[in-house]
Amino acid sequence: MKIICIGRNYSEHAKELKNDIPTEPVIFMKPKSALLFPDKPLYYPEFTDDLHYECELVVKISKNGKYIQEKFAHKYYNAITVGLDFTARDLQQKQKEKSLPWEIAKAFDGSAAIGNFIPFPEGSNINNINFELKLNDKTVQVGNSNDMIFNINQILEYVSQYFTLNIGDVIFTGTPAGVGPVNVYDKLEGFIEGQKLLHVDIR
Ligand code: MG
Repeated sequence: MKIICIGRNYSEHAKELKNDIPTEPVIFMKPKSALLFPDKPLYYPEFTDDLHYECELVVKISKNGKYIQEKFAHKYYNAITVGLDFTARDLQQKQKEKSLPWEIAKAFDGSAAIGNFIPFPEGSNINNINFELKLNDKTVQVGNSNDMIFNINQILEYVSQYFTLNIGDVIFTGTPAGVGPVNVYDKLEGFIEGQKLLHVDIR
């Protein structure tokens, strides 16, 4: 399975990291070994001093596809959850300065936390999904899919030009503003429409 991630998909987040607003989706991937399954803790990696959370809507691919058109894209996913695109911000900054790939900052073990998936009701409005992240019981990120620069169906169309999508692949769709650092003993909880789907303790 593949973990496909979209970067800079909310303009307020692009601005907070001083990035330009993209005109095409920014794509990167994480290996399967990056998956952090629901309710598993993340052990703070020794190679970073600035581990950040990025809470994102995550969709699961339910049908194989290539060159998927936006208008048919809704047939290719059937479940959604929230995830955390954990990022070693200090390493990412160094890689960006040298124009080098940033996998060491974003694709390490446990860097792709996913919550429990819930069915994506057919015909539901993909452009009005509210989600939220709490850090130690305090809300730190709120998002609505309507604020995505490229919506879920546009992402599938774009990504599937380059990569065949397979059943079980997951797509992290980008984070809204409000990213920040975590520390050992922090508790992170993610919600869609008020329903708790994700819980990660930092150890
Ligand atoms: Mg992200």
